[in-house]
Amino acid sequence: MMTPEMRKVIDRIKFSLFSPELVRKMSAAKITVPDTYDDDGYPIDGGLVDTRLGVVDPGLRCKTCGGRAKECPGHFGHIDLVRPIVHVEFGKHIYAILKATCPHCKKLVANKPIIAIVEKEEAEEDIKADAAPHLADVKEGAVGDVEHASAEVEAEKKQKAEKEKAEKAEKAAAAKAEKKPKEKKGGKKKCPHCQMELPEYKYLKPTAFYRDKEELLPSEIRDLLSGISDDDVRRLGFDPVYARPEWMVLGALPVPPVNVRPSITLETGERSEDDLTHKLVDIIRINQKLEANINAGAPQLIIEDLWELLQYHCTTFFDNETANIPPARHRSGRPLKTLAQRLKGKEGRFRYNLSGKRVNFSARTVISPDPMLSIAQVGIPKEIAEELTIPI
Ligand SMILES: [Zn+2]
Ligand SMILES: [Zn+2]
Repeated sequence: MMTPEMRKVIDRIKFSLFSPELVRKMSAAKITVPDTYDDDGYPIDGGLVDTRLGVVDPGLRCKTCGGRAKECPGHFGHIDLVRPIVHVEFGKHIYAILKATCPHCKKLVANKPIIAIVEKEEAEEDIKADAAPHLADVKEGAVGDVEHASAEVEAEKKQKAEKEKAEKAEKAAAAKAEKKPKEKKGGKKKCPHCQMELPEYKYLKPTAFYRDKEELLPSEIRDLLSGISDDDVRRLGFDPVYARPEWMVLGALPVPPVNVRPSITLETGERSEDDLTHKLVDIIRINQKLEANINAGAPQLIIEDLWELLQYHCTTFFDNETANIPPARHRSGRPLKTLAQRLKGKEGRFRYNLSGKRVNFSARTVISPDPMLSIAQVGIPKEIAEELTIPI
């Protein structure tokens, strides 16, 4: 293998979480209007295609950098969520941290990196099927504006789910009966620091948490997590400068630049928006409704329902194939393609666009980036380069 001079050796890569402050700091505009263009076809200020987030129309200039569609790289905006929501991708981590912390004095009761707990949990999960009731059943009433399949299919599904649920509950009960004697012996565990009794946590995927059977609101989870000291956060395996655990509960949602979700103009002259934009419209609408209800002093029950709906829309914005959650659909019934769906799998950005390339009248090969190549170059096998690509 040819080895050109090593220019840079990567020692390690550090991943971090965005703090709400960072999301707001890198944001070019706060997005508050659940709409895109006005009647004249011009982007609405504070709307989802606000020109501060970049432009896709060739005639317009970006208000942030002054560039036209081809020059502007696009800029992030943000939505301030009236109530925080749990980031779906971090459910497992939050669960592990909750279990590892005393809710009274916020000190650690477990002393190993969270990632170890999460990995152990995942291994156990593979063994036993999820015995928890399906969130989809529990939350059905909450996701009112998601179009459902026909009533018949739904009823059939329900019956099936109920049967499954009963079977699972039976299994779970059996498992519990086996486990119980062991747990009962010592009674409830106590915190070694403050001697208070430690609660039992339950995690109902993907985003619901229970403490001694009582559901925890995302704001309560955030308060618990932010009470953990920096030293303890380090002990859990995080670097508190780059990833405080409470940042896994979102207070501000980044809005991707316009050129990431361009609208297309149909032959009829009608504009059709990207799935991500549709989802963001839902999020802002519910966010506004929630705010209005809070300000009007609506009953807690209504507020919590709307809050859950906000959680649902944010969850499906990140991943519309989340287990136990009905996917958000178009009026046509087609599920929306949101962030995770763009990246994941054989047809996703990585495997489809980045590591496989086809060229007309030539072989197909796996291509790859390389620290030794410039950003505009890709690597292909030498044989393919020499034999199958004929310069014209
Ligand atoms: Zn720009
Ligand atoms: Zn304690």
